[in-house]
Amino acid sequence: MQAERFFMQYKIYKEIMKNILVIYTGGTIGMVKDSVSGALKPFDMHRIYEVLPVLKKINCNIETFQCDPIIDSSDMNADKWLLFASLIRDNYEKYDGFVILHGTDTMSYTASALSFLLNNLGKPVIITGSQLPLGVIRTDGRDNIISAVEIAANNDVSIPEVCIFFDNKLYRGNRTTKINAEFFEAFYSGNLPSLAKVGINISYKQHLILPVPSNKFKVYDKLCTDVIIMKIHPAISKEYLNAVSSIPNLKGIVMETYGSGNAPTDKWFLKGIKNIIDKGILIMNVTQCKAGSVEMGHYQASCALRDMGVISGKDITTEAALAKMMFVLGNFSDKKTQTELLNRNICGEIS
Ligand code: ASP
Repeated sequence: MQAERFFMQYKIYKEIMKNILVIYTGGTIGMVKDSVSGALKPFDMHRIYEVLPVLKKINCNIETFQCDPIIDSSDMNADKWLLFASLIRDNYEKYDGFVILHGTDTMSYTASALSFLLNNLGKPVIITGSQLPLGVIRTDGRDNIISAVEIAANNDVSIPEVCIFFDNKLYRGNRTTKINAEFFEAFYSGNLPSLAKVGINISYKQHLILPVPSNKFKVYDKLCTDVIIMKIHPAISKEYLNAVSSIPNLKGIVMETYGSGNAPTDKWFLKGIKNIIDKGILIMNVTQCKAGSVEMGHYQASCALRDMGVISGKDITTEAALAKMMFVLGNFSDKKTQTELLNRNICGEIS
């Protein structure tokens, strides 16, 4: 009878014990002190329990995957995003959640790209990193990893999203921007509040978290790299627009405009934009502001853009707009579908 009870308890324990895959891509977080020289060097992810023994106390099994080579996230690109997506696809059934350790510099771009590639995602993918290496006394990496793993392994709330966890806050990844190169509060999500806050407890704002999808998980395997970000600025010139329009094979432009989507009204500027559109290149209008939305037609300075067929990015971040264009242009070939998809919300990237 007692043995039966024990096995029953063990079965329940095993059922709620989550399996988490921690993927280490590189970045500041992975640096530890060499015990001989004292210099900072990348740590061996497979020794995660040695470096952070406290992880053993979280009710989950952690397995690790270390990218080879590990990289500074400034070297991130489309091929690597496709590799991460396929790594998650190949391990999707085996694990209940994924934690990706990543440099902070391009973390918002990676989170955005994965949010489009991992279609109908039903499990948490939590990306984290740090401003100070793990091997430094005041590191923020320790708390970031511990909480990211705890969130990925939690039994109370489903988080079927690609998130960024940083400085005690869980964000929808495709809503974030890195805003600080020095302080621990490095990320900002101006158009969507954080999905959870970590204090004495982890308090989830369930109403903000995406619902668990009813359709089958699917991983897309293409991204178009014939896209650019073009920032409108007061010194912009005719020559600049001409140079942009003559980029070979260019298919999409994320155009960062002022305020609610405004750009110069000079004839040469509008002619240059029209020229680009007539070449079949799609332009998405996003704001340079860190919060708020593009509203073409609100000011005279954006009416012409709207009338020429510039697509409104609404309240999307530049990072998510770039990833969305790469995803849509890479996976859908007809212009009508591309325009329709770029106009609408795909995975929580716009309000
Ligand atoms: N340069 C580093 C990277 O993005 C910075 C960091 O990890 O915070 O990989």
